[in-house]
Amino acid sequence: MIRFALTCDRGHDFDAWFASGDAFEDQAQARSVVCPCCGSAAVRKAPMAPAVKRRRAEAPLKREVSKRKKTYAFLKDLRAHLQANAEDVGPAFAEEARKMHYGEAETRSIYGEASLEEARSLQEEGIPAVPLPVLPEDHN
Ligand SMILES: [Zn+2]
Repeated sequence: MIRFALTCDRGHDFDAWFASGDAFEDQAQARSVVCPCCGSAAVRKAPMAPAVKRRRAEAPLKREVSKRKKTYAFLKDLRAHLQANAEDVGPAFAEEARKMHYGEAETRSIYGEASLEEARSLQEEGIPAVPLPVLPEDHN
């Protein structure tokens, strides 16, 4: 006799005894092996322990990837929003932001490029500017 850990198509785990591995295959084919929980005859051998361990190890990584995807999607949305609703002033960003802050230019939403130095001096002068990371272009 041999015992197999089995699982049905609804995810119930159970054990059953068979005369041999072939006997299990035959009975499963004949749909005479049924889940004691739900009666389903769609039964297969449960994954071996190492496979379960490997799945568990992958889980945090997948979460990490989906978190990164969400952040990326958010930044992409933000950038799309800016491109639709704000004026691209390009490399003149720091200059324009400063003019707006001191009332020398009409206040509006702008976006553009600023060097690290420019961004820092804007911050020191108390001019609100949000750095937006450069995103890799989509290849989809
Ligand atoms: Zn079941």
